[in-house]
Amino acid sequence: MDKKCLERFHKSLRSHEEELQRRLLTFQQQGRSSKGSETKDEADKASAAESKEITFAQNTQTKVLLTQVKGALARIKDGTFGECVNCSQDINLKRLEAVPMASHCIVCQEMIESRIELK
Ligand SMILES: [Zn+2]
Repeated sequence: MDKKCLERFHKSLRSHEEELQRRLLTFQQQGRSSKGSETKDEADKASAAESKEITFAQNTQTKVLLTQVKGALARIKDGTFGECVNCSQDINLKRLEAVPMASHCIVCQEMIESRIELK
C-alpha cells in the first residue's frame, strides 16, 4: 500500500479513535449520574435499569471497536496494515475503505463468522 493511502487510513482511524474515546467518556458520565439519581416509582426504576443496560451494551461495543481501531493503528505502525492477520493476503482496498479497522480479508472474515454461527 502506498504512503498516501496509508496516511489517509491513519487519519481516519485516529478520528475514529477520538470519537470512540469521547463516546466512552459520555457513557462513564451517564453511568455515574444515573447511580445518584432518585427514582420515583417502579416504572422509573425499570426505565432507568433499561437505559443502564443499553448504555452498558453500547459501552461494551464501543470498547470492542476501540480495541479494533487501536489494533489497526498498531498495524500501520509496524507496516502490516492492509494484510489479513490470518492468511497475510492483502485485504481488499474497498473493504478497508468501508471498514478501516478490518483485520481479516473477506475470506477469513466469512470463515470466522460462519464458525460463530455454528456454535
Ligand atoms: Zn485472510
